[in-house]
Amino acid sequence: MGLIQQLPEDVVRKIAAGEVIVRPANAVKELVENCLDAGATEITVTIKEGGLTLLQVKDNGSGIYKDDLPLVCERFATSKLRSIDDLSRMTTFGFRGEALASIAMVSTLNVTSKRRDAPCAYQISYKNGAMTGRIRPSAGGDGTTITVDGLFEASESRRSALKNHAEESARVLDVVAKYAVHRPDVAFVVMRDERGCDLRSIGSGEREDVLGVLYGDEVAKDPIELRLDDASLHFEMEGIMARPYSTHSAEAKDAKRKRHKQFVLFINSRPVSCVALKSSTEMTLGARGLATSYLMMALKIEPSRVDVNVHPTKDCVFFLQQDDVIERIQEYLDTVLTADLERYRPRNLP
Ligand code: ADP
Ligand code: MG
Repeated sequence: MGLIQQLPEDVVRKIAAGEVIVRPANAVKELVENCLDAGATEITVTIKEGGLTLLQVKDNGSGIYKDDLPLVCERFATSKLRSIDDLSRMTTFGFRGEALASIAMVSTLNVTSKRRDAPCAYQISYKNGAMTGRIRPSAGGDGTTITVDGLFEASESRRSALKNHAEESARVLDVVAKYAVHRPDVAFVVMRDERGCDLRSIGSGEREDVLGVLYGDEVAKDPIELRLDDASLHFEMEGIMARPYSTHSAEAKDAKRKRHKQFVLFINSRPVSCVALKSSTEMTLGARGLATSYLMMALKIEPSRVDVNVHPTKDCVFFLQQDDVIERIQEYLDTVLTADLERYRPRNLP
């Protein structure tokens, strides 16, 4: 007799859900991406106790058809991908149809949604993955509100691993802040506990405005706009860098103390990490005795050259000719710094 057994379906689902949604910030990322996929221009995130007691994401996007509501929390149910051929030209964040199913598996989840052409909103609720009750008409404006109560409430060990609510809140803010800078045309709000508003971008379309509300005027003042197109390497890059400062200055010490040094990278609109690009950028600045407190780069690479099918929790993306692209960006930053030095002297440079 052998030892290997096929796991029951509900166990498989629970394990898969646990891989995608490990903490509240993972859920917020997925929910915010859904809002952006739905074309929202206003997104409000509300959290209580780090998102564990309450986590709500409200948008003014396309809304969901009443008939689609029973499918939103089914695994592998999506409105975004129809066939394998679509995979190489996806322009939406989502396409797996896994996120809502995963969140619903480990919480009590309510979806309230209204399409512009519908007479009213409709809502549906799930508990630990199963629909509770049926679709009901509801009050609510155009768009979608997803409310997640008691995330991980059935898992004592997960909840105790996440008992530092301040840390979880900070991670949620961090996630939203990234999207806010990347999408200055969208107004983002984060409300934490009953403390009022923690983050509010106005959706003016100006990155400088977003940096100002997120990190203060000091970081947002005279930022350097970045823009580079390289047809031979098949990529475009745009971004923003807070005015560099000399690493010998008092400001550098202050930045170190506050650990305020951010490098944010998007590839084809997805926030990703790339250690090689981060360190090469720091080296380019460092070679001139400079550092910056905030740098955001958004790369557009031909989709066929990027492996999009990385697991949702793995934020490391692979693309072709990575080393050449990084070198090209390094060269570009160097020219930008040279040109910039002629215009401004970096703050506090001796
Ligand atoms: P995916 O985004 O990969 O399609 P999700 O589980 O995140 O999978 O969402 C499932 C489906 O629910 C989406 O394909 C979309 O049709 C719908 N949906 C989820 N959130 C929203 C939203 N905020 N606005 C409109 N539709 C949504
Ligand atoms: Mg999604």
